[in-house]
Amino acid sequence: MRYVSTRGETPPLGFSDAVAAGLAPDGGLFVPERLPDFGGELADLRDLPYAELSFRFLRRFATDIPEAELRELVARSYAHFDRPEVAPLRQLASHLHVLELFHGPTLAFKDIALQLLGNLYQRQCALRGETLNVLGATSGDTGAAAIHGLMGRPGVAIFILYPDGRVSPLQERQMACTGEANVYALAVDGSFDDAQRVLKEIFGDGAFRVRHRLSAVNSINIARVLAQCVYYLHAWLRLPADQQAEAIFVVPTGNFGNVLAGWMLQKMGVPIRGFRVATNQNDLLHRLFTTGEYRVGEVRPSLAPSMDIQVASNFERFLYYSCGSDGSQVRHVMAELRTTGVHRFKDFERDTFTSSRCEDSEIRSIIADVHRSHGYVVDPHTACAFKDLDPNQPSVVLATASPAKFPDTIEAAIGLHPTHPSLEALKRRSLKSHKIVADAAAIRGFIEPRAV
Ligand SMILES: *Cc1c(COP(=O)(O)O)cnc(C)c1O
Repeated sequence: MRYVSTRGETPPLGFSDAVAAGLAPDGGLFVPERLPDFGGELADLRDLPYAELSFRFLRRFATDIPEAELRELVARSYAHFDRPEVAPLRQLASHLHVLELFHGPTLAFKDIALQLLGNLYQRQCALRGETLNVLGATSGDTGAAAIHGLMGRPGVAIFILYPDGRVSPLQERQMACTGEANVYALAVDGSFDDAQRVLKEIFGDGAFRVRHRLSAVNSINIARVLAQCVYYLHAWLRLPADQQAEAIFVVPTGNFGNVLAGWMLQKMGVPIRGFRVATNQNDLLHRLFTTGEYRVGEVRPSLAPSMDIQVASNFERFLYYSCGSDGSQVRHVMAELRTTGVHRFKDFERDTFTSSRCEDSEIRSIIADVHRSHGYVVDPHTACAFKDLDPNQPSVVLATASPAKFPDTIEAAIGLHPTHPSLEALKRRSLKSHKIVADAAAIRGFIEPRAV
């Protein structure tokens, strides 16, 4: 399988090279040259455990990795989840299911992709005999999941910038209390946007980037999207047979990476009825799916911070398929978005997508309602997905984080203080972060002597 850029101006690459590159040189995102069809083999996949299912899926994409090696690599990626099912499906009511994606090391769904990506990076380093310095900016969950995917790996160092005082104390601990020598948590004096701006500037310094073999960790790596397809398949296979044809997946959405994975799986012949794109008050995608207009706005910080985005970076892949895989059209739309901040869609599968928007003021009452009706505690991101659900529509709500990561919001909603042993253990460890100004020269100066 080869990978092409959504903007059509990069020569196709094999899987491992596309994963190592992250972003395509023409500024686009990598996508598989064609999507395989799994429709004919669903019966054979039905009872496979998660890691084996993941291997059977990924071997169609990672065709440059020998199968025995890939199987072992995938098994290792899912060995540190606190449930044998990896992503258990729980039934709350006759037509209501929750897909729990938060049983990985940092208790959020990003672990499912980043545990795999960490192993892929390590393999690539060993193969090329090179070291790698991974750099990223985070508002919380991504940085923690990336650190836990890469910590302790030989030949890799990871530098994560986060806005000082603006991530939750537990998220900060997940990043700064690992005790691993190859992890650097940088508390930047500024906002998440400041951290991202500095990061862009550093990546824009070609000589520095090449000298340190810098790699970005962000939500656009194709390996992340493919790893995420697997839990949709795993869940769909486990739905009651009489609900499989009608069930929709309800996805708390930020950068569109999660829901994109489900949609791509549908394109691969898995008969998923549709998707509900659940946003918080940062409702770019809800506005798109109700009006057809994609209009970039201002971010308003919310109780579900990992969904606080107003530019959905993975959306470009959706755009690519919607434009009939025509890179020149994608370039045209992306240029239009850069200059005007607006694009009007003529067509986007209205029968596949619905959407919802959840105001910040509604999140606590939804947490309380779900707890009262089902005896089940949801985190603030997952709560957004429970907005206006139709009880007669078979639905699978994706639970993207453990409530234990957001104990204050949960306590305010229902008076309970959720905990998790891994978070309790973190509280006993010493915190090691590095305060730094939001300035590219200062951060380059920090990286320079510590890079591997
Ligand atoms: C990242 C994240 C999201 C948003 O996922 P996208 O792939 O950006 O749409 C939702 N919930 C949680 C808890 C997250 O960490």
